[in-house]
Amino acid sequence: MLDAEFFRRWLTGAAAAVDREADRLTELDSAIGDADHGSNLRRGFAAVVRALEDEPSGTPGSLLVLAGRELISTVGGASGPLYGTLLRRTGKALGDAAEVAPVQLAEALRVGVAAVAQLGGAKAGDKTMLDALEPAVAALGESLGASFAAAAEAADEGALATVPMRARKGRASYLGERSVGHQDPGATSSALLVAALASAAEG
Ligand code: ADP
Ligand code: MG
Ligand code: MG
Repeated sequence: MLDAEFFRRWLTGAAAAVDREADRLTELDSAIGDADHGSNLRRGFAAVVRALEDEPSGTPGSLLVLAGRELISTVGGASGPLYGTLLRRTGKALGDAAEVAPVQLAEALRVGVAAVAQLGGAKAGDKTMLDALEPAVAALGESLGASFAAAAEAADEGALATVPMRARKGRASYLGERSVGHQDPGATSSALLVAALASAAEG
């Protein structure tokens, strides 16, 4: 079972990964966007870590909702509301249980990813974070532990697969054909978030 501690591990691990990779995320965003994805997420996840420190109690669901709210209120770019929605809707889907089974988290994440697709109006192949998130939740499957590692691998492959795509949503879509040949920053950060989930599952 996954308790509140697991979700703290995931979110603080995600914050550390974003901090470590911020320059690379911004570099990717400078090629097909406005060069702020790394700094956007660094600011957002730093706020998430502070909010978690200020909230000593909390359930898996309430901690994800809290984190989502922080991202929405601190990240100015498109990724803030999108990632905020992912965490908020995933958290809501978990309800108020003190512990959740991995299969419940997989199901809740599918709800969260669907909410991102609905909010942004993007679908697979549009060269967005969904190109990493959708394969990740598809790979989660129903089994325990190991499925998080499979999700991380699928997210990585999904992020790489955005290179030859032409962007159809977000700022990169303004570039049309010139968006081809670059990895999408949001798909890249999504792979970091899923990798942090897999690390949290390893203990
Ligand atoms: P902004 O583009 O506002 O500067 P960021 O740079 O923080 O915001 O985030 C850009 C990323 O957000 C893109 O690389 C893409 O993955 C994601 N994104 C943008 N628009 C959408 C959308 N409509 N649906 C899903 N993801 C999107
Ligand atoms: Mg940007
Ligand atoms: Mg911006």
